[in-house]
Amino acid sequence: MLNYPFKFRAAILEEVKKPYVIREIEFAGPLQIGQVAVKLSYSGICGKQIEEADGLLGPDPYLPHLTGHEGSGEVLAVGPGVTKVKPGDLVVLHWVKGGGINAATPLYNFQGKRINAGWVSTFNDHAVVSESRVTPLPAGSDPMVSALLGCMATTGIGAVLNDADIHPYDTVAIYGCGGIGLCALSAARLRYPRKLIAVDVNEQTLGMAKGLGATDTVNPAKTDPIKAVRELTGGKGASKVIITTGNPKAVESAINSSSLPGDCIMVGVPPKGTLIPLDGANVVLKRTIRGTQGGSILPERDIPLYYDFHKQGILKLDGMVSSVFEFGRINEAMDKMRGGVTGRCVLKF
Ligand SMILES: [Zn+2]
Repeated sequence: MLNYPFKFRAAILEEVKKPYVIREIEFAGPLQIGQVAVKLSYSGICGKQIEEADGLLGPDPYLPHLTGHEGSGEVLAVGPGVTKVKPGDLVVLHWVKGGGINAATPLYNFQGKRINAGWVSTFNDHAVVSESRVTPLPAGSDPMVSALLGCMATTGIGAVLNDADIHPYDTVAIYGCGGIGLCALSAARLRYPRKLIAVDVNEQTLGMAKGLGATDTVNPAKTDPIKAVRELTGGKGASKVIITTGNPKAVESAINSSSLPGDCIMVGVPPKGTLIPLDGANVVLKRTIRGTQGGSILPERDIPLYYDFHKQGILKLDGMVSSVFEFGRINEAMDKMRGGVTGRCVLKF
């Protein structure tokens, strides 16, 4: 049973380009059809929240609002119609829509104002989320690793296992080896490609990529990445290019690093309206460019599967966490992510 009003602490984005403010807010209740109340354990910080807080996603009509889209926690109560989870379950909170009811998004009360939240929010120690945005994991699952399955790990692994169709004869280049890129690289290794090339401007990140099985590393700050990838692939270019950065210049280099024919999978999101030059002749020579949203995962199928990969030691997801911050230090954690870290910063509640 949940007592109403249900009060908890949340990081509120009141204005862009300003730090979050942490305040107590309340959910008047009761839970509506398909809503699930969760006590958060961990939340990851995704690049998307940096872009949102820094005002890089264009005008934000929902301010003030809650945010965060990858987390883990325990179910406290469920609204009418919920069958996928029950109180006490350990769940992953994710932004990709899964099975179950797509519930009404909650509004929270704060000092006479109504605060917006989407189907899921994770920068808060409790949340009311939609059944379609939670997936249960077995009792005893590591809550910190579970949080990464809300976006980072599922996007990176899914982009490879669901979208890229890598074979042992392929040569793979991963452009951008942040958290998503390192997950993509680890997953690509499971397909035993001839070459697995990590491309990133951060030397520490490249060292980690090497430790995770990259056959070669390229630093575009030091060398022409197109030329380097070409040299490493017998002059042909990489047959599969996974692009986890949204930096337009890097996306352009990544596309031009692919072989002909060759496949480019775009995971990173360039700013809306960005035009990237494309040589049409190369498209005719069967260079494909396609996007993936969240690694094209089916949450109920892929979240437990990728957790098993971790549990069995096939993928080491705990190694992707660079630092853990107490929730109250969220602005510090955001600054650390802005400075460029190897792996993910996570918040602990
Ligand atoms: Zn994300």
